[in-house]
Amino acid sequence: MTTETRDLFSKFDPLIAEREALLATGVRDPFAIVMDEVKSPTQAVIKGKDTILLGTYNYMGMTFDPDVVAAGKKALDDFGAGTTGSRVLNGTYQGHRQVEEALKDFYGTSGAMVFSTGYQANLGMISTLAGRGDYVVLDADSHASIYDGCFLGDAEIVRFRHNSVEDLDKRLGRLPADALKLVVLEGVYSMLGDVAPLPDMVAAIRKHPNCMILVDEAHGMGFFGPNGRGVYEEQGVEKDVDFVVGTFSKSVGTVGGFCVSNHPKFEVLRLVCRPYVFTASLPPSVVATAATSIRKLMHAGEKRAHLWKNSQRLHKGLTDLGFKLGTETPQSAIIAVILTDQAQAVAMWQALLELGLYVNMARPPATPAGTFLLRCSLCAEHSDDQVEQIIAMFEAAGKATGAIG
Ligand code: PMP
Repeated sequence: MTTETRDLFSKFDPLIAEREALLATGVRDPFAIVMDEVKSPTQAVIKGKDTILLGTYNYMGMTFDPDVVAAGKKALDDFGAGTTGSRVLNGTYQGHRQVEEALKDFYGTSGAMVFSTGYQANLGMISTLAGRGDYVVLDADSHASIYDGCFLGDAEIVRFRHNSVEDLDKRLGRLPADALKLVVLEGVYSMLGDVAPLPDMVAAIRKHPNCMILVDEAHGMGFFGPNGRGVYEEQGVEKDVDFVVGTFSKSVGTVGGFCVSNHPKFEVLRLVCRPYVFTASLPPSVVATAATSIRKLMHAGEKRAHLWKNSQRLHKGLTDLGFKLGTETPQSAIIAVILTDQAQAVAMWQALLELGLYVNMARPPATPAGTFLLRCSLCAEHSDDQVEQIIAMFEAAGKATGAIG
């Protein structure tokens, strides 16, 4: 079969051509980065070069925490490599219960349910809560897993303008009063690193009947709020939020997803939530590392303070150099550098990599308003010295590529 034959892959031809044209200019493939060695939460070897990692979601640097690693090794020895089954069949081990207990203690909730990824947590929660005839009201910049949860559940999707309280209020006002609605918000939006105005949003939602609120704190857990619960804790709306969804793949430092809630009927979801029921549970080593990490994050005030300092320093350093950033002030551990077009983003990304700095390049459709971004995610384990090195590398790369004067 030749590539000219029309088949189910034909729709990808423009993307294949775009990628080939980009690689023909001699740039490295941004989607083919291999970490040959990982030395710490902030350092890896990529193509033989020592590289500072500024493109991971390892916000609290827990991946190499000695207690976390030891718990994983012990569980691997004691319980084996995997469960080979779903939570509702043979896949619930004591480690799954322990990580759910750790989550309940961390969040102060009566219920906690662990999924195999954060993606599946959103997919499962949204599709199970909101079905045909219900409405999911969501921010237009919501994560793909939130949209996919709506599609799986077959609810009506109602989008409001990113972080616009007024638009949220207006759109809720147009829905039938007796319809059941799930409003889905995120604490931190991961492309630009901006934070949602949750108290104003909650006030707007409360004006309308039959609304429940789910907040995705994937990028807020560990870092925001006195107990590290997320933006909803920091902004004081804990009592107004019905469900918090999160992930183990960011601040917790491993893989997995979860939902916590105080709803009295929460446990029934274990019987009816398809992305929970019809997939294998997390391996024992993963749940053991997650439980240990979550309990340590309950006492991580110093790490949080250092991460804020890093975020503020990098934001100021890049602003002073003349880069355009996703937010005017540092709002989270994500600092997005906005570039003019794909060519400039790729040139900067490659120049930084050659200097020994790894950041994420993001482009439409993942990014809002057609922007090309270099997304920097700070870690509590980045030293002051590393942050200065990062700023110096941005200066060198920016001047070499013409991104700054
Ligand atoms: N929600 C948001 C807002 C995310 O950014 C992500 C991952 N980037 C997820 C959910 C999914 O998390 P996971 O990696 O655990 O699937």
